[in-house]
Amino acid sequence: MPKFFIKTYGCQMNERDSEQVARSLLDRGYEAAANELEADVVLLNTCSVRDMAEQKALGKMGMLGRMAKCRPDVVFGFLGCMAQARGAELLKLIPHVDLVVGTQKFHRVADYVEDLRARKRAATDGVDQHAMDDPRFSIVNTEEESGSQETIREHALRARQATAFVSIMQGCNMHCTFCIVPRTRGAERSRTIAEIVREVRGLVEHGVKEVTLLGQIVNLYGRHEFPTVAGVADPGRAKSPFVQLLEAVHNVDGLERLRFTSPHPIGFRADLIGALRDLPKLCEHVHLPLQSGSDRILKAMHRTYTAEKYLRLVDQLRAARMDIALTTDVIVGFPGETEGDYEKTRALVERVQFDNAFVFRYSPRRETPAAEMAQQVDEEVKEARNRDLLKVVDAAAKRAGERLVGREVEILCEGLSKTNHLRLTGRTRSNKIVVFEGAENDIGQLIDLKITHSTGFSLSAVKAGAASSCHLSPMEELLPPVMTAS
Ligand code: SF4
Repeated sequence: MPKFFIKTYGCQMNERDSEQVARSLLDRGYEAAANELEADVVLLNTCSVRDMAEQKALGKMGMLGRMAKCRPDVVFGFLGCMAQARGAELLKLIPHVDLVVGTQKFHRVADYVEDLRARKRAATDGVDQHAMDDPRFSIVNTEEESGSQETIREHALRARQATAFVSIMQGCNMHCTFCIVPRTRGAERSRTIAEIVREVRGLVEHGVKEVTLLGQIVNLYGRHEFPTVAGVADPGRAKSPFVQLLEAVHNVDGLERLRFTSPHPIGFRADLIGALRDLPKLCEHVHLPLQSGSDRILKAMHRTYTAEKYLRLVDQLRAARMDIALTTDVIVGFPGETEGDYEKTRALVERVQFDNAFVFRYSPRRETPAAEMAQQVDEEVKEARNRDLLKVVDAAAKRAGERLVGREVEILCEGLSKTNHLRLTGRTRSNKIVVFEGAENDIGQLIDLKITHSTGFSLSAVKAGAASSCHLSPMEELLPPVMTAS
């Protein structure tokens, strides 16, 4: 049985896309390999959001050159955002790459892999020994495809899998000046509510209890395709397609928890804030990308809100759901960011006291307006601001964790702790990681735990009513999830 290995860089959307590709290969009789050395097909699903993400994928593929020499039958491919942005150029950069597939063609990957394997077999069997030297031997497809958003809909679920991502839309029309997503993922295209609900029902039938709805600009879902309707309880209050979708998914029997990421601050209108207040399955956590606390920089970023509006939204969210956890993304060192601009960001982050935040040094992306702007900020300045802001973020995250110590919380157990297989891990409704001692049949279950200890970014706990406690080693702290771009 041929084996495949997929390495995923970047955000949850990429993870979801990789799962779809894995599903399509499993359906053709392929088996998942534990690592690339065992595989007959090695695929890197890439990210372009920062230069470092691209360099990591290029470095990884470069290192596989030796394997390609020893095993010319293996298919090597780049998928996803970097593949979309760079296309055939990647074949020149790394000659052993056979396959480059963009973000609207994941559903074609299995066909292409089969095709390349057949061609390689013919070449290595001596039928056509020169075929592999012919550049036409490779396959590159970065075309746009209408309806491609509907093709990310199947899953490769593990036994007792409790959580799943559901991709509800692709692309973004916002054109923030630092962001490459509109180029790599195309214009906004949404799936229908009926299709999404069908997918969620299928997941619940397989035991999934929590779904996270995914989109680059998730709360503007459907704005080009579907109408806004009048609310049932309050006909004067319009209901956006996204809130209609939340309600429809919320109605799926057996689903226990509902999340979404990543939203844009401008998409939080009264109907969505009302949904956060009124839909009990919707978890008390919002990831609310800030990017900057300076109005001047927000304007240069083409973010269409001000710091004051952002703070007003924070207040509205906290008023709607008192115990809501807020996390964010911040970019430091955007072109033209002065010390004064940075101080405004710092003050805003200090004021909001986020439960966690992902701080990024601005990374120029090809063919984005910000990359061409004058007054690019020195790397040392970016680094200093990054370090300084992380201190503020870490202190607030620590306080948020400590507030939970001694409290009982419901967690959904996701499986074994990544760093200690004697312990289990799960998440609170506010999306905090909890590690605890439990039994195998806890996996996939909602469990009440008492929090005993906080390390800042993760918590340890015991089953409610139990006496002992367990403490995390620093290695058990969670690695931060990777930013989605919104
Ligand atoms: S940062 Fe988010 S909202 Fe802005 S263009 Fe990128 S994906 Fe769209």
